[in-house]
Amino acid sequence: MTTDPQHFLPAIVDNFEAGIFVLDKNMQVVLWNNYMASRSGKSAPEVLGKNLFDAFPDLPKIWLEKKLRSVLVLKNFAFTSWEQRPWLFPFSHNRPITGGVDYMQQNCVFMPLKNTDTNEIEHICVTLFDVTDVAIYQRQLTEALEKLEISSITDGLTQVYNRRYLQQRLASEFARVQRSPQPLTMLMFDLDHFKKINDTYGHVGGDEVLKTVASRVKSLIRAHDVFGRYGGEEFTLILPDTDQAGAMTLAERIRLAIQAEPVMFGETPIKVSTSIGLCSVNGQFNNHEAWLQAADEALYEAKHNGRNQVRVYGLPSSGAAAP
Ligand code: GH3
Ligand code: MG
Ligand code: MG
Repeated sequence: MTTDPQHFLPAIVDNFEAGIFVLDKNMQVVLWNNYMASRSGKSAPEVLGKNLFDAFPDLPKIWLEKKLRSVLVLKNFAFTSWEQRPWLFPFSHNRPITGGVDYMQQNCVFMPLKNTDTNEIEHICVTLFDVTDVAIYQRQLTEALEKLEISSITDGLTQVYNRRYLQQRLASEFARVQRSPQPLTMLMFDLDHFKKINDTYGHVGGDEVLKTVASRVKSLIRAHDVFGRYGGEEFTLILPDTDQAGAMTLAERIRLAIQAEPVMFGETPIKVSTSIGLCSVNGQFNNHEAWLQAADEALYEAKHNGRNQVRVYGLPSSGAAAP
């Protein structure tokens, strides 16, 4: 005697490790498996014959009903993923809170069911899968990649951009103003007599100076200015939409902010000053390397001329600020 496999189906559906329920055209529940009962806290007898949205008033009714109706009309499967909508039912997930997700993350499949007598789609089967683990791993991976991306462009000591990022932005900003001319200026600055600071206060003292200088400059610039440590005690500031005069005002403000107050290394005040080279892009440079070289020349001039001053590339000493 052969056994009809249909015979096993109710038990399989009931004990399946995923939520399974069936709705009719009026959104009434006609099947509700054990998984749905245990996770929702509502047993099959409590839910069967009821409108799904009356039984669960917190469901996203407008969105879900539209989805269900589209399955009936189009006679096609539909899916939702946790990435678009993290959950349909607010089921608890039993994972440590550190996973960063509030409820069980769910993928759902909406399956049209045909009435074999009438050949019409009259029911929809919804299958709900717990994908919390996948979601947690995916989120952790995304977060780790974001952190990695940030650290790959950040200077470890000062927490401003590093040389690699500055070089990228020098190239991209230069290219941008070639396409559509707009003011663009760079400041290169180098702390004065930094070797002496290291010799006098040690490397830890020198590092403290670098950190303080970086944070003072950061407090003076705008969000879209690009500030980074080019190397050693040299910093670069890229100023989009800023012409020579505007950059000069800012450069002076930075120079004064650095020399105004000594850097406190514990109880010890360390006097610091900086020399700044300023260079705007105005058609005379073939590439960003030439622009950088010109800023470096202006910086050299500032050093040569006595330090603690701003020099503008291409301007004779009249461009220099009095220290
Ligand atoms: P100048 O006024 O001509 O710039 O004199 P300077 O002494 O600053 O000369 P220079 O630019 O040649 O010296 C830079 C020094 O910065 C050399 C190096 O020991 C020191 N330095 C480079 N990187 C670091 C760092 O990460 N931490 C510390 N503490 N010192 C650094
Ligand atoms: Mg230097
Ligand atoms: Mg120096």
